[in-house]
Amino acid sequence: MCVRYCKRCGSVAFAHKSEVCYYCKSITLPVPEKYWLNGIEYLISLESKKLVLEELVKTSPEFDQQLYEKRLIDDKMVESVISQIDFSSKSGSAVKTAVECPYCHSTNVKKISGVSKAAHTALFGIFSIGRNSKNFYCNNCKSDF
Ligand SMILES: [Zn+2]
Ligand SMILES: [Zn+2]
Repeated sequence: MCVRYCKRCGSVAFAHKSEVCYYCKSITLPVPEKYWLNGIEYLISLESKKLVLEELVKTSPEFDQQLYEKRLIDDKMVESVISQIDFSSKSGSAVKTAVECPYCHSTNVKKISGVSKAAHTALFGIFSIGRNSKNFYCNNCKSDF
């Protein structure tokens, strides 16, 4: 378990078991120890994330600027779509059918409950700053979105 980065599209993500980039399907690399927060391999600050981008990703010959920019736009789009969904509206089943995984397009997704989301935030707090709009978990590709 560690934070891994993709030197092609610049994604930095906590990987459960997959070593494949959630976005471009490239093989990811573990983030070196010097970027870890307090020496914990699955924590990384936003600051370090930027350093990983500047020092490891953008210097890589495999870095794809267009793909990187496209990913940023896609990530933004996902966030804006999620923010338009009215979570207060009654049954979970309505949400279930309305939501599709942005990565693998599976509809086998579940809403992250308030409790597990809070636990997730507590556990990966610093890492997930700015990503609190993630409300769903894909059972198919194991991504939060
Ligand atoms: Zn990638
Ligand atoms: Zn998925």
